[in-house]
This record gives sequence, structure tokens and C-alpha cells, in this order.
Amino acid sequence: MPHTLSEQAHAGIHGLKAYVPGKPIEDLKRELGLESIIKLASNENPLGTAPAALAALADFDGDLFRYPDGSGFELKHKVAARHRVSVDTITLGNGSDDILELAGRVFLGPGKNAVVSQHSFAVYPIVARGVNAYVREVPALGLDSDMPRGHDLEAMLAAIDDHTGVVFIANPNNPTGTWAAHAELESFLERVPAATVVVLDQAYIEYQTADAVADIAGWIERFPNLIVTRTFSKIFGMAALRFGYGLSSPEVADYLNRIRQPFNVNMLAMHCAAAAIEDHDFIARSVESNTAERARLAAALAERGLASLPSQANFLTFDTQRQAQPVYDALLHEGVIVRPLAGYGLPNHLRVTIGKPEENARFLAALDRVLG
Ligand SMILES: *Cc1c(COP(=O)(O)O)cnc(C)c1O
Repeated sequence: MPHTLSEQAHAGIHGLKAYVPGKPIEDLKRELGLESIIKLASNENPLGTAPAALAALADFDGDLFRYPDGSGFELKHKVAARHRVSVDTITLGNGSDDILELAGRVFLGPGKNAVVSQHSFAVYPIVARGVNAYVREVPALGLDSDMPRGHDLEAMLAAIDDHTGVVFIANPNNPTGTWAAHAELESFLERVPAATVVVLDQAYIEYQTADAVADIAGWIERFPNLIVTRTFSKIFGMAALRFGYGLSSPEVADYLNRIRQPFNVNMLAMHCAAAAIEDHDFIARSVESNTAERARLAAALAERGLASLPSQANFLTFDTQRQAQPVYDALLHEGVIVRPLAGYGLPNHLRVTIGKPEENARFLAALDRVLG
């Protein structure tokens, strides 16, 4: 019998630290008394929120004293239309992190393991250890690879054993920005054991322009063990409202929905997401701006001898050629918030979100001052 709360908490909890989010602008204002601050730390859309969502918010006349529609009828139909899938493949989430957590609760547990890549999203180990499962971290591709520090899908496949409940793949990956070629991903899915779930996290997929993007409807039909996750926190500019969803076989969606909190997505998030999902113009503008600025920023960093990893996302991760934490701290004093990556096994790298042209220029000027 446990005698202390520490003993009562399961072993997985002891393997975790609380997630450290990108530093909020208000924190830095308070701490350093700075007036003008730019945040390029959390991969938010620098163009803001989809105008269609803002218009929906302004017109909102729902009854906030009532529970939201727990089945998400209207929104599910719009998601279904977006991907040409049936509504029974959809699981609605309070952000896509919610779907990751549901997958962990259904398919992981004590004695099981989750296979993840080195330098991948911090939420995966939290999900796995949170249900007292093990994490099998697979070394990323080497620096001599075509996709330095990208997911090594062959090694991840080889790491799957009889106890592997879930494999988490972020594509493009955060915090590296790297991606797996469409054909390699498909070949991976074809060879994963039928009872191991693959979570394909597509938080940044709208930004990907360099390779074919999967036909999700076809894939979830072909691979009953696949869960694709999407978020409205990144390109749709709705991070504060919290909405994401999973697409999977109806069987898997049914399991996820059995344990989903009945009212996990709030009424405002559903209302705004239903409008944002049709804001094709905003998505196109966001992709266009990101693609151009990402190339410009990568070139500007390269000119300074600071190589960035190949990225198909809305951020760049670059090698500062020294310990990155002091660079991060000095940038804070310049009013520029980026993301240090020591916790991701990249102590010399910083991750910078692609901002508006003027934000990127300010970041580069600050970086030049800091690096002297
Ligand atoms: C930002 C991000 C998410 C999105 O999380 P939400 O809960 O939808 O805000 C999911 N996966 C990855 C890899 C991310 O970087």
C-alpha cells in the first residue's frame, strides 16, 4: 500500500516534467518592462485569425447558458465535406492535443509502449507516460541524410514490438520542420502491424508545398489503424479557441468517442471553426506568405552561417553554433521571443516561427545584435 502521495502517483508521472509553453508576451512585458515585443515562439499564424471566424464570433448569438452540441452535428458535417469522408470517421477535440490524449487512453497503458522519434513533439511522451506506458524513442535521421534530423521511418518500424500500442508521427514534424516523403509514409503504413495504431499528426500540413499530401480519405479507408489529427491552432489562427479533430476508421473513432468528454469542444470554438473551415482565401494567403517568408528567412540565416533544417512548416529550426539558451535570453531582452530546444535534444538550436515580413526583419536585426 502506498504511504505517500508520491508513491501513489504512478511511475509514468515521475518520468515527466510539466510542459513549458512558448513565453507569453504579457510575461515578458511584466518581467522586463518592454513596450514592444514580438512572439515567434508558438507557431501561431502571424496573419491572425481567419476573418470568417472573427465575423462568426461578432455575429454569435448562441445561448451560453446551454451545453454545446456534444455531437458537433454542423461542424462534423463541414469536416466531413472538407475531407470527403463520412461523419463516423470524425472525433472532435479540444485542440488536436485532445485527440492525441484520447488515442493514448484507448491504446496505451501500463506494460505497453509508444514509439516516437527523437526531436519530436513534446506532447507524445506526456500522453504515453500519463497513462503509465513506456516511450521508445528512435534516433532521428543523421545530419548526412537528405532529411537531417527527420523521422527515421524504417527504424521506427523496426522499433515496434508486441507491446507497441501507438506510433506517433508528426508530419511535418515540430520542432524540426522536417517531413517524410509521401511514398515512404505510405510504405510505412502498409507494413505497421494491424493492431498498432499510427497517429499521423498533421498540425502543419496546410503549409506543406514540397511533396504530395496524402489523400486522407483513401488512407483512412485503407488503414483501419490510422488516426490523422488536424488542428485549427496553426494556419486557421484559432489557438486560443481550442479546436482540432481526428480522422480514422469508424471503429477507432467509436473507441475514441466512448471516452471523449461529452462537451470537450466549446460552443464558441465550434461556431468559429465551422466558419473558418470555409475561409479558403485566408488559408491561401497564409500559405503564400509563409512559403515566401520561410525561404527568405532561411536564406538570411544561411548568409549568417546559421544553417536551418529543411522545413515544410511555419517555422525554422536553426543551429546557433553555440549554446542556444544565452542567445534565447538575449533575444528576450531585445523583445523577441523564440523557442529554445534543449528539452528536445537540440541545445544549440532555436526554433523561430515565420512571422510577417516586418517581424522577420526585426528578428534578424535582433539576432545580429545578439550574435555581435
Ligand atoms: C501545435 C501542434 C499541435 C496542435 O495542438 P492543439 O492542441 O491543436 O493546439 C499538434 N501537434 C503538433 C506537432 C503541434 O506542433
